[in-house]
Amino acid sequence: MNSSFLPLVKSATKLPKVAFYTLGCKLNFSETATIAREFETQNFERVAFESPADVYVINTCSVTENADKKLKGIVQKALAQNPEGFIAVIGCYAQLQPQQIVALDGVDLVLGASEKFKLPQYINDLAKKKIGEVHACEISEVNFYESSFSISDRTRAFLKYKTVVTINAHIVHTSS
Ligand code: SF4
Repeated sequence: MNSSFLPLVKSATKLPKVAFYTLGCKLNFSETATIAREFETQNFERVAFESPADVYVINTCSVTENADKKLKGIVQKALAQNPEGFIAVIGCYAQLQPQQIVALDGVDLVLGASEKFKLPQYINDLAKKKIGEVHACEISEVNFYESSFSISDRTRAFLKYKTVVTINAHIVHTSS
């Protein structure tokens, strides 16, 4: 992971807030934890999803039943907390259906499997976009190897090494 970029917020009396919603498996939760730490490094304060935040990150799963409908509901939930909140959608479903997701009202950014760990770098300012952006390469081009671990999230403390093979297997399975 590249952590050499400049912090988004160099000094602030009031830290910007980021909130996360995670769907899917334990590995997805561990990846959320990894991304959340990256935001904290960038001087964001992590808050509960059910509270006003500047950035809402939704980490999706492609095997969630009614994934599209469920995602719409989560986006609306975030916007109900803060209509100006920046909405980023990442994860397996984002890799599978990026164009469908970016077309949803209120979605500002969609990142695929190889881009999601660079999420803080894609948020240049916290302003909502008139037209959402998609950054997702073909799953066959994804070749990163990312270690993720979760200490205090929903899952028990664990250390897992997740290869893209796991994601590939589910995305290929759900798209065929
Ligand atoms: S699609 Fe598979 S790997 Fe991705 S979040 Fe869902 S269960 Fe986990």
